[in-house]
Amino acid sequence: MDLIQCFAFILLSLFIASFVLQWRRRSFWRQPDQKRYPSAQENTTTVIIGAGVVGLCTAYHLAKAIDKKRHKVIVIEAASQVFAATSSTNTGILSYTGFQEELLPLAQYSYDLWEDLGKDTDFRRSCGYKENANFALKTGSGEGDGEPIPNWIHTKTDWHAIRDPPDSKMAIINPVALGQWLHKQCLNLKVEIRLNEKATSVDLDTTDGTMSLEVIDGEGNALNLQCNHLVLAAGPWSPALFKQLFPQSSAKIEAVISAGEWFVFENPESFTEKSIAGIYFNDIVGQKLEFAGRNDHTIWTTGEKSEVGEVPSVGDTPKPDPGKLAKLRAYADMFLKHPHTSGGKQKLRVLSHGRSYRPATWNSLPIIAGIPPYNLTTKERGHTKAKVFINSGHGAYGITLSMGSGKLMSQMILHKQLDLDVSRLGPSYI
Ligand SMILES: Cc1cc2nc3c(=O)[nH]c(=O)nc-3n(C[C@H](O)[C@H](O)[C@H](O)COP(=O)(O)OP(=O)(O)OC[C@H]3O[C@@H](n4cnc5c(N)ncnc54)[C@H](O)[C@@H]3O)c2cc1C
Repeated sequence: MDLIQCFAFILLSLFIASFVLQWRRRSFWRQPDQKRYPSAQENTTTVIIGAGVVGLCTAYHLAKAIDKKRHKVIVIEAASQVFAATSSTNTGILSYTGFQEELLPLAQYSYDLWEDLGKDTDFRRSCGYKENANFALKTGSGEGDGEPIPNWIHTKTDWHAIRDPPDSKMAIINPVALGQWLHKQCLNLKVEIRLNEKATSVDLDTTDGTMSLEVIDGEGNALNLQCNHLVLAAGPWSPALFKQLFPQSSAKIEAVISAGEWFVFENPESFTEKSIAGIYFNDIVGQKLEFAGRNDHTIWTTGEKSEVGEVPSVGDTPKPDPGKLAKLRAYADMFLKHPHTSGGKQKLRVLSHGRSYRPATWNSLPIIAGIPPYNLTTKERGHTKAKVFINSGHGAYGITLSMGSGKLMSQMILHKQLDLDVSRLGPSYI
């Protein structure tokens, strides 16, 4: 081997060695269960706080849109199950109209996503989803407009039922079943759902620019989760949680929370296609009174709203107002059919009852926004690469709006073009 050949051989060896080294390094970063969290470009982790309908719809859309080898989605939930709070204790109406002007495009965008899902027979069956099954009862001629009334309510001859609203789209869904469906979809999409873990604080000052979120598990142990994106979807707890996590932030979420008492009864009648329906007695009784027949053989009812100053601590069972419960029970006894046995008329069987909270903001608009890093602390602008987002405050329409707001939030996280301009749906800054 002469000198030139020797030199060429050394060069070739160096080239091969550097190629092998680079390849090994790249495959190291690809390890799925690595404990280290390198920079956002190479490996990204998004943590969503709250496994209600808003948190799980966000996780669902995000997980559908990402490269799962490079981007991990984690949902942390303080309770021992998903849909532990308001998301499973609501009427389940999905509507297209009746929104304030600023919300209408989001409501229609979201409703269209539900409608698309509703084309799938499995989704309809498992979630008890049904279109055009919402009726308002009115006193009048008794003739109505020929709309079918389910077999689980007493009808009076002078009542008539009309589709509500008559010329618009409306659907109904069983929120409990929806929670199970979303949970399953998220697990299939490799979303990690961590139950019994409560977010308590955030450290934005990590050396690699990610965030370190402290969570307390069911046994009281503190754990740290490194993440690049953090999404607050903690429903009625979002305003207080944001303040707790970012005490120096200039962003303010002002909450206006209203509560509703509710009952779930066993449906005493046999299940038919007509059993799934929303029936509204507002005109008959002169106040809000809703019943919903569901695919799990239950009937849900809720009545008047009441404004409340604050919500109980996360995980605590809310205490219903006894007076409002008694009134609601009396209406249910009056309007629902009772079980009959050989011994005669029996009492309606109560499966559960309680109170739940609508997570609303001062202007009744949800917050679907990213918070710029320089608005998170009073420190130097942009000192962290960590991205914080809020998807919360959906008020009385959280089920309707969640599929749309979850999709828009996932587009925001991924820096994609948003399907809808939601720039007006942000927090206020001081
Ligand atoms: C009586 C009633 C009837 C309603 N009817 C309808 C209807 O017919 N149609 C409709 O569209 N909407 C309806 N709504 C509104 C809808 O139910 C809510 O807007 C929606 O469920 C809110 O969902 P969410 O995910 O924001 O909140 P939630 O369901 O409250 O979820 C938030 C989750 O965050 C968790 N969490 C909070 N803090 C932490 C923490 N620090 N760490 C970890 N986890 C945390 C909580 O445990 C909770 O599970 C109704 C509401 C009520 C009260």
